[in-house]
Amino acid sequence: MVVVLEKNVTEKQLENVIKHLEDFGFAVHKSTGVEQIILGAIGVQPNFDIRRVKILEGVAEVYRITEPFKLASRSFKKENTKIKLGNIVIGDKDVVVIAGPCAVESEEQIFILAEIVSKAGAKILRGGAFKPRTSPYSFQGLGEKGLKLLRRAADKFGLLVITEVMESSQINLIEQYTDIFQVGARNMQNFSLLRDLGKAAKPIMLKRGLSATIDDWLMSAEYILSNGNQNIMLCERGIRTFETYTRYTFDISSIPVVHNRSHLPVIADPSHATGLRDKVIPMARAAVAAGADGIMVEVHHDPENALSDGPQALLPEQFSELMTQIKAIAEVIGRKLV
Ligand code: PEP
Ligand code: MN
Repeated sequence: MVVVLEKNVTEKQLENVIKHLEDFGFAVHKSTGVEQIILGAIGVQPNFDIRRVKILEGVAEVYRITEPFKLASRSFKKENTKIKLGNIVIGDKDVVVIAGPCAVESEEQIFILAEIVSKAGAKILRGGAFKPRTSPYSFQGLGEKGLKLLRRAADKFGLLVITEVMESSQINLIEQYTDIFQVGARNMQNFSLLRDLGKAAKPIMLKRGLSATIDDWLMSAEYILSNGNQNIMLCERGIRTFETYTRYTFDISSIPVVHNRSHLPVIADPSHATGLRDKVIPMARAAVAAGADGIMVEVHHDPENALSDGPQALLPEQFSELMTQIKAIAEVIGRKLV
């Protein structure tokens, strides 16, 4: 249930409404907007009579939410969530670019790529140190050594860092090196990990599960939000369909759907979605045109010898070309690159 308070609600009335909601058995989350305070009353009570809240002093409107997610919903929070990191903001007007290799492979590799992507205009360096590979025999990442290299390379070129966390036991370690935690598609419904990330102090990028509906995805965001962490961005990375030409099917339509249903920013990942280098640029263009708040792409200077995902990595010159193209597209829809 969403409770919108009167614009001139007093502190006493607000406290009284919160107390009533708690007495009725709801957990209460307060959101203070520019104009009004909105309360999210969390708890499943299908037969609750909302008039019991409507009659309280200071209450302007009460809405029952039919969506299964509440804190993630646009009806709970009208304004877009804006995530401030250093001197950039994700989820505002500008489009942010996250780029880098699939995995951190060596000092030389990550420093070369950090320089390439920063010179082309990316603001956030990606690179996995703990890799969720389909096969246990594939390269699993460099672990803490990879985190250290990623941080040093990012710092040298003035970039922020995003890297994947695969399990709760890694949170404290990764938090020392990263600016954003990435939750991979395979972990989208690892609810204990999501709960623990809800208590982390840094923003989360939550990738859409391989076969997750948009509601499933937003419910996973709800796990993080309801545990306290409000800085979440979602990442569309393609879903499994019957089509086999591309690795997954890039669901571009999820971008406007999520923007309509939720206040959370959406990043698009055309690299994992298509799995093929030559499909990444057109899909990145489409994602920016569809309103994505950012894109994340894999880049490698020697993809033939990459330890993971070489076939989908853009070559450095392709990445520069992509930046030029999406800059122009962003301008057409009244945005610019961060
Ligand atoms: C990644 O971004 O490194 C990754 C493994 O992607 P996904 O979880 O979307 O497969
Ligand atoms: Mn990858």
